[in-house]
Amino acid sequence: HAKAAGRNTYQFFTQKMNSAASHFELETSLRSALAQSQFELHFQPIIDIGTRRLHSLEVLLRWRRPGSGLVGPDKFIPILEENGLIVPVGEWVIRRACEQSMEWKRQGLQPVPLAVNLSPRQFMHRGLVPAIRRILDDTGIDPALLEFEITETALMQQGEQTLDILGQINAMGIRLSIDDFGTGYSSLAYLKRFPVKKIKIDRAFIKDLERSAEDRAIVAAIIALSDSLQLSVVAEGVETEGHYALLQEQGCQFAQGYLFSPPVPRVNAANMLERLG
Ligand code: C2E
Ligand code: CA
Ligand code: CA
Ligand code: CA
Repeated sequence: HAKAAGRNTYQFFTQKMNSAASHFELETSLRSALAQSQFELHFQPIIDIGTRRLHSLEVLLRWRRPGSGLVGPDKFIPILEENGLIVPVGEWVIRRACEQSMEWKRQGLQPVPLAVNLSPRQFMHRGLVPAIRRILDDTGIDPALLEFEITETALMQQGEQTLDILGQINAMGIRLSIDDFGTGYSSLAYLKRFPVKKIKIDRAFIKDLERSAEDRAIVAAIIALSDSLQLSVVAEGVETEGHYALLQEQGCQFAQGYLFSPPVPRVNAANMLERLG
């Protein structure tokens, strides 16, 4: 018995050491990933439900890690958040997105807004607003073609400073959306204090839309609230025609999800723009 317990403890420690070691390895290789140009942007269409045409593209970060293929953000964004690297990496994402938009413009493609995710730590960083200003200056992008997505949780963390930062971003002509709406503290009262133009309903509420009368009621309520506050609404995680039909019926304006396309590399995104004519 004692021996078995000993072995379990041993296994427990080796498991912990292995995961600590792989976390350390991951972090070490992440430290050089930016300098070695291993990050790339993918793009997922956001569709206008009324016309079923492309409205904008969400920018989603990928890491081309040597020996591991393409790594998704859920694997590395939390580490970047933890060690602060999200600040330079996040700034790179904004810059790269603006450069891409200008590149497409030079190629004669019809411009659509690009929506970039801002992490809580990046949002709190003093350097954010000046960095955005510099990027707008350097690239010459029309700020109306740039949007930022921020989660409710990030917004609730700061208090007074939040309003100030949001106000400055808004004054630059960049639109703001609330991401993953419904999953955080959703203090609805705050919504009207913030210069936010759009909310994105988290896919947790869309997933079971066809089966769950409760989820349908929640989504209907979010859409009604948004209408009365004159916000546009994007439904995330739209995977079926059933989802689409229900959202259309409820008067939801935009949809994003695998029904239309997963996030794709820039070449495929350019093809989508080309088809816009
Ligand atoms: P998010 O901002 O909520 O982005 C949507 C995520 O849902 C994306 O995952 C997308 O691929 C996925 N998705 C889209 N449609 C569907 C669908 O129909 N079904 C399902 N099951 N999933 C769908 P992805 O690309 O893995 O990104 C995960 C999260 O990583 C993002 O969630 C965002 O929070 C974060 N992230 C991605 N890029 C960046 C970035 O550049 N900066 C920051 N700070 N965070 C980022
Ligand atoms: Ca997002
Ligand atoms: Ca989201
Ligand atoms: Ca999410």
